Amino acid sequence: MGNNHVTFLEIDLNAIDFNLYFFKSKLEPETKILVVSKAFGYGVSAVKIANHIKNNVDYFAVAYLDEGIALRNAGIENPILVLHPQISNLAKIIEYHLEPNIYSIKLLEEFIQISSDLKTPLYPIHLKFNTGLNRLGFSISDLEKLINLIKKTKKIEVKSVFSHIAASEDLSEKAFTLKQIKSFSEMTLKFVKETKTNPFTHMSNTSGILNYTSNAQFDMVRLGIGLLGFGNDKKFTSQLKNTFQLKSIISQIHTVKKGESVGYNRAFKATTTIKTATIPIGHADGISRKLSNKVGYVYINNQKCFIVGNVCMDMIMVDITTINCNEGDTVIVYKNQQHIEDLASKIGTIPYELLTAMSQRIQRVLK
Ligand SMILES: *Cc1c(COP(=O)(O)O)cnc(C)c1O
Repeated sequence: MGNNHVTFLEIDLNAIDFNLYFFKSKLEPETKILVVSKAFGYGVSAVKIANHIKNNVDYFAVAYLDEGIALRNAGIENPILVLHPQISNLAKIIEYHLEPNIYSIKLLEEFIQISSDLKTPLYPIHLKFNTGLNRLGFSISDLEKLINLIKKTKKIEVKSVFSHIAASEDLSEKAFTLKQIKSFSEMTLKFVKETKTNPFTHMSNTSGILNYTSNAQFDMVRLGIGLLGFGNDKKFTSQLKNTFQLKSIISQIHTVKKGESVGYNRAFKATTTIKTATIPIGHADGISRKLSNKVGYVYINNQKCFIVGNVCMDMIMVDITTINCNEGDTVIVYKNQQHIEDLASKIGTIPYELLTAMSQRIQRVLK
């Protein structure tokens, strides 16, 4: 694999910079920026991107402990918020100076227990308030108990309190979102008043920044897919730069005669003579099998070539009947945001899923 692999993801760090400044330009100058680098940086590259932007952002966040360790091992020294820690992770979180999201009374009690042995005073933690997503976080009914625990403990510092918007990209849910924002503000106010702590606050993801710039900016924003050029809306996406292309080559060209078939289960049968190109990327690399048989397409010589037959584990075959190309020529499997959005919508999903499905055997290279 390594450099021998002809299928690679080419990352454009200048485009990443452009997108970061696009979001910064929407914010008050004092608003902090956290970049969400979970799931290998949305499948693109957590480490390459984090290393490039670390001096221009305040925080990073990952979903799981291992992802935080990977950033530390790559030399990232920014604070790193672990969004979804388990009780069994807490000791390692401290060992790697990661900052846990504490989302339940049980997790808080465990962390207080572990932190009581710490030599360092005031270990930084973050508290998540559930305001309607119903995924992780303290509810209003937990607040009393939470406040009492925080008032008693001497070893932890509540560095921030935060919440997550359920439908920040969906303006038909605006009333619900405003209710979430209000409820977050009220929970924060009560918490701060009664604990006499001074945490900073954050709520917005990419679409929160774009759609609720003034309502939900708080002290920090959590930028995820927007950094990669996706605004969850055609209008915003067109203002962002494409940050990567997934590229491969043509391994072999076949002439398929009328009546012959292509691929497993003979899913495609030629009704006229066609030409196909075999490309070394398949469903093991994140090319959904739902893109089989004329649903998905790649670009060769700047022209669309539709997938014929079923997507295989390691290969796809595409129709090049009308394309002027040769074995060894470049294939653009994911060209830009618009291409990915189109493929995602054709198979009933969102770009997030296509991005994070790109397998780790695809080499990541800088443009
Ligand atoms: C993934 C995630 C984000 C980033 O969301 P985007 O829509 O990619 O910007 C922010 N906050 C939390 C809690 C998340 O889980």
